[in-house]
Amino acid sequence: MKLYEHMAKEVFNSYGIPTPRGRVVTSADEAGAVAEELGVPVVVKVQILAGGRGKAGGIKFPRDPAEARRAADELLGMNISGFAVERLLVEERIDIDSELYLGMTVDAGNRRPVVIASSRGGISIEEVPQKYIVREEVPIQWGLYPYQVRSICERMNLSGVLARQFEKIALSLYRLFRDEDAELTEINPLVITGDRLIAADARLNVDEDSSFRHDYPDTAMRGEVEQRVTDIGLSYVQLDGEVAVLANGAGATMATMDILQRCGSSAMNFLDVGGGATVDSMAQALRILADTRPRVLLINIFGGITRCDDVAEAVIRVQEEGTLRGSLVVRLVGTNEEEGLKALEEAGVTAFQKLEAAARKAAEMAQRGDGEVDADGNSG
Ligand code: GDP
Ligand code: MN
Repeated sequence: MKLYEHMAKEVFNSYGIPTPRGRVVTSADEAGAVAEELGVPVVVKVQILAGGRGKAGGIKFPRDPAEARRAADELLGMNISGFAVERLLVEERIDIDSELYLGMTVDAGNRRPVVIASSRGGISIEEVPQKYIVREEVPIQWGLYPYQVRSICERMNLSGVLARQFEKIALSLYRLFRDEDAELTEINPLVITGDRLIAADARLNVDEDSSFRHDYPDTAMRGEVEQRVTDIGLSYVQLDGEVAVLANGAGATMATMDILQRCGSSAMNFLDVGGGATVDSMAQALRILADTRPRVLLINIFGGITRCDDVAEAVIRVQEEGTLRGSLVVRLVGTNEEEGLKALEEAGVTAFQKLEAAARKAAEMAQRGDGEVDADGNSG
């Protein structure tokens, strides 16, 4: 499970890893107040469970508290990488001399933790050329030794006071990695500012099976949507494409995404309603997906125990509630298919029997930007 940046930074701090001064806020007024209180130039960063926020427009560099307030106002309620923005981190802006990368994860192939570092931080580590990536495996029974970190520094061309700080941070991060039962932890960028190192970003993914040993709030780890889905016993995965997918069964869900991909689009998320969905559970699932504000929502139901007329009823019910503002494409086959399709047709919902046709339609709508609706309900 992923932790939000601001929570990961709190954990980092408790292990002595330096992070910028700042606070998490949920309103524009608060953002202005924190900027005022810090009394220095700030950055305003959306708190979502996805990286690449910089590129996606989720980080602002306001000039003064009034501008911080406006930036926050703009960001709150936006949808970035498929996440509704509900929280922002306002923190002191760091003057960046250069950006490093430091991460730790489990190398499943070698069955041990691995430390990954690079002098080319600030971009996704997957984009860094191999020759700039330094790896150091850690035998779990011995832990990470200082000499290993010094070797990493040497390979990164880091020396003197910066190398000494890097060593402290890496050893602390390893302690954190083990004690917090992390699956992945990342500092990207680990910023060099003057003669100091500071963690400007923080990622911490922890092993869900160890959650009984820790006391992170559920929503912090899962995100709002995941929590709502878990509460009704279904499964949901956030992705970064364009179309929200609702299907029944893991196989059908994966097939839906494959076909969507083949039609030139991709899933923004998917929700598997499983077998035997009722009108109520289907409607609940639809409301949750509607709240992720997709441009297009593709429903693919193969009705066995689930009845197509029930599915149609749920779709129509949620459609009438008015929360489903994107375009809707339905593929419906199986038990009571005719009744279901007829009901949808009467309600003016685009419905298909062939998955391929439905996926093609959804991809087309996503590309045209059909149904792209802003928070006020205006198309454009
Ligand atoms: P991400 O895009 O989600 O990984 O968010 P990050 O927190 O890593 O920020 C992305 C980029 O924004 C960084 O690599 C920096 O280039 C820039 N950035 C973030 N915080 C600061 C800051 O305090 N000062 C400056 N100058 N740039 C920052
Ligand atoms: Mn980052």
